[in-house]
Amino acid sequence: MNNTILIAGAGLTGLTIAYELQKRNLPYLLLEAGNTPGGVIRTLKKDGFTLDAGPNSIGATPATMAFIKEIGLEAEVLEAAAVSKNRFLVRDGALHPVSPNPVKILSSKYISGGAKWRLFTERFRKPQPVTGEETVASFVQRRFNKEISDYLFDPILSGIYAGDPARLSVQEVLPFLPKWEQEYGSVTKGLFKNKGMMGGRKIIAFKGGNETLTDRLQQLLKTPVCYNSRITGVTAAAEGYTVQYNSNGQTETVQAGRVIFATPAYATAPVIEGLDAAAAHLLQQLYYPRMGVLHVGFERAAVQQLPEGFGFLVPHAAKLHFLGAICNSAIFPSRVPDDKVLLTVFTGGVQQEHFFDEMNETTLQQTIVSELTTLLGITQPLVLQEFTRWDKAIPQLNVGHRQLRMAVQAFEQQYPGIHISGNYISGVAVPAIIQQAGVLAEKIAGWPATATRKA
Ligand SMILES: Cc1cc2nc3c(=O)[nH]c(=O)nc-3n(C[C@H](O)[C@H](O)[C@H](O)COP(=O)(O)OP(=O)(O)OC[C@H]3O[C@@H](n4cnc5c(N)ncnc54)[C@H](O)[C@@H]3O)c2cc1C
Repeated sequence: MNNTILIAGAGLTGLTIAYELQKRNLPYLLLEAGNTPGGVIRTLKKDGFTLDAGPNSIGATPATMAFIKEIGLEAEVLEAAAVSKNRFLVRDGALHPVSPNPVKILSSKYISGGAKWRLFTERFRKPQPVTGEETVASFVQRRFNKEISDYLFDPILSGIYAGDPARLSVQEVLPFLPKWEQEYGSVTKGLFKNKGMMGGRKIIAFKGGNETLTDRLQQLLKTPVCYNSRITGVTAAAEGYTVQYNSNGQTETVQAGRVIFATPAYATAPVIEGLDAAAAHLLQQLYYPRMGVLHVGFERAAVQQLPEGFGFLVPHAAKLHFLGAICNSAIFPSRVPDDKVLLTVFTGGVQQEHFFDEMNETTLQQTIVSELTTLLGITQPLVLQEFTRWDKAIPQLNVGHRQLRMAVQAFEQQYPGIHISGNYISGVAVPAIIQQAGVLAEKIAGWPATATRKA
């Protein structure tokens, strides 16, 4: 009988699953292709600045905070300053304060009178019967109008997915909107009835950078992560599965009762191809656009108009070369030298990745810095500039994602004991990944030790 649970990938998903299995006394083996833990969670330290090249902030739920306490990191948490509730959007070369509260949006100059009228009268519009997946843009244009889609939903979805509302599935990324349409007949009615929905969330980061989280998880694992070990194939065996992996240039095999993929879809696809070519094809098709993360630092005295808030988002209609920026020095001041200001600027994603083909990285950075300094009225030179490029950043939960989920489910049923995980299944945000790891470990703890395939 083989009890070993093999996990591929030591990003946040794989590390959290390993930790949750360990808590339940289940034996695991964690293989990681690279030589460090954390995947896209990456912290850099430079000239007294703490820079996160992956997630910069975590919208922690009470359950996330309890998990952080459980792993002994409570004292390492930084809660965002109160100003973080202030958010800005860019239109006509200026920053506009905005609130998610539709009543406040009605009094803002950010959207036109026509858009406000569509917002105000949405509750009188008839709900449409459900006919399958719908893009965010189609849903929002149907319930509101194109301006609200282009100037509110487009930047908000850039901030989470670096995505395109004309492709993202509303059922995947904003499932409560179609739910409210069906339940209350209107999105705005749903919003009022669910006012407390986001309550209890805190915006946090870690004092030493967000790698603190994945470093700690790795330290807590009693079975050390096997680095430089890339899983390459899985075949069915008499008891469970035979897993092939490449370790420092050598091909190795290991027997496992169960296999958990905590790898990105494009990495999982070739490994399962021999078992299910159709599911592998769908995983391979999942789109991860390129992204760039540009950290820029200035002397505090040089920045006159820095928004006192979390940051600002840029609708694509504004035709700038970046998606938005986080004002790190306003929300997590202790991670930045006192006399300096730090912004993390995001570029690329679905609607801007063409910039990587049209210009080299130096020109792209120069263009962004020029647009940013004009927007913020900065005339002094930078004191810090650090660029990180992600060739495959965030999975796009576009229309069609439901088909991928169904194929994964069917695959897991056909090959019991294989589980496909990762941020394209759990949700991309850190709290969702942590929560789903606990759910999966609990499920596995309740299963028989070795998976048995149906004949
Ligand atoms: C630029 C950026 C900004 C983000 N900002 C935020 C944010 O502010 N807040 C938030 O909550 N979330 C944010 N996210 C999302 C969040 O960080 C990710 O969803 C999450 O960290 C993904 O974790 P993961 O373990 O699923 O995947 P990954 O981090 O991609 O880890 C997968 C691991 O698998 C390994 N691997 C690949 N192939 C193999 C193989 N064949 N064998 C073994 N190992 C393999 C990889 O080396 C990697 O270590 C951001 C993501 C990015 C890219």
